[in-house]
Amino acid sequence: VFGHVVRAPEDAILGVTVAYNKDPSPVKLNLGVGAYRTEEGKPLVLTVLQFALICSSRVKEYLPIVGLADFNKLSAKLIFGADSPAIRENRVTTVQCLSGTGSLRVGAEFLAKHYHQRTIYIPQPTWGNHVKIFTLAGLSVKTYSYYDPATRGLNFQGLLEDLGSAPSGAIVLLHACAHNPTGVDPTLQQWEQIRQLMRSKGLLPFFDSAYQGFASGSLDADAQSVRMFVADGGECLAAQSYAKNMGLYGERVGALSIVCKTADVAGRVESQLKLVIRPMYSNPPIHGASIVATILKDRNMFNEWTIELKAMADRIISMRQQLFDALCARGTPGDWSHIVKQIGMFTFTGLNSQQVTFMTKEYHIYLTSDGRISMAGLSSKTVPHLADAIHAAVTR
Ligand code: PMP
Repeated sequence: VFGHVVRAPEDAILGVTVAYNKDPSPVKLNLGVGAYRTEEGKPLVLTVLQFALICSSRVKEYLPIVGLADFNKLSAKLIFGADSPAIRENRVTTVQCLSGTGSLRVGAEFLAKHYHQRTIYIPQPTWGNHVKIFTLAGLSVKTYSYYDPATRGLNFQGLLEDLGSAPSGAIVLLHACAHNPTGVDPTLQQWEQIRQLMRSKGLLPFFDSAYQGFASGSLDADAQSVRMFVADGGECLAAQSYAKNMGLYGERVGALSIVCKTADVAGRVESQLKLVIRPMYSNPPIHGASIVATILKDRNMFNEWTIELKAMADRIISMRQQLFDALCARGTPGDWSHIVKQIGMFTFTGLNSQQVTFMTKEYHIYLTSDGRISMAGLSSKTVPHLADAIHAAVTR
């Protein structure tokens, strides 16, 4: 009965690792993977996680549909700020979801069912999964200008024009920080202009926060964009992931928060979120959420976490500088300053798909065909190999 099923293509991002694994070359380099690696190229389990594991709950009962209460409260505080008026006024409902992806999907399902405008604008380009998540939830996906290939920076004018002509009430997906795949973020002044425009048109912000603390090394700095929108008293949604900033990738820990106008609305929204979640996966897993809650609750563990988080962010920033210096030393044609200007895990190199194919074939370097490289996959040892490959690709 399944004989007619056609083979689906590999996921564009995860497929890079599949190809990398098949390559027997000893110099191969995987810069496609969206996970932190140490200077030795190894996955990192944060020391604070090992402490938290000892202290966190051994209970293996079902969680409520909305997840662990402590985890939800602390997650909202982490993104909106401890002194957030929206939290104080009980206008926020937070539900534990399956990492960032699951939080986006639950938010999308809720909007498709209960929000009057079914159109969502996502940046062009964006993380590949956004289109699928929102389309499958029943929303109609449109794009807004974001990246300017000429400057390898933000196309701010284009962004304002596109959001300015979006229909009133449309949903707008915003990367809270460290835009994936470009590494290009608006400045705080630009965020303020975006906020004013969106509020004046009644556009609904849906923040995707997959890299809080991981981008700049500061949890507060990386949440500024979200907090600006919450400070004006308006509504918004925020999807949080603990994959990157706590290194809990496979535990699938995340949260969806919906900021409402009143506590009464927030209560009703939460009751409907339960109806979205219950038939999807009934209730979320307990293990990762108890680890996160343990860390967020304890001042010493929290401080230890911020130190380790900053160390990860700093290593990535140092990789940017080393790669930039290596290209300058080789006299590689072109302006490569975007490598140090962009932020977060990824650099959008500006290399085209032919150059990427060349680098994979000749140098065994694996990256997505849009020229995105994961800086976390680099080390001082591998920077020269990558710089040689980029130099050869652009001078060939
Ligand atoms: N949003 C963005 C922009 C991302 O880059 C990612 C991870 N690559 C996610 C959401 C979700 O990741 P996860 O489901 O692993 O938390």
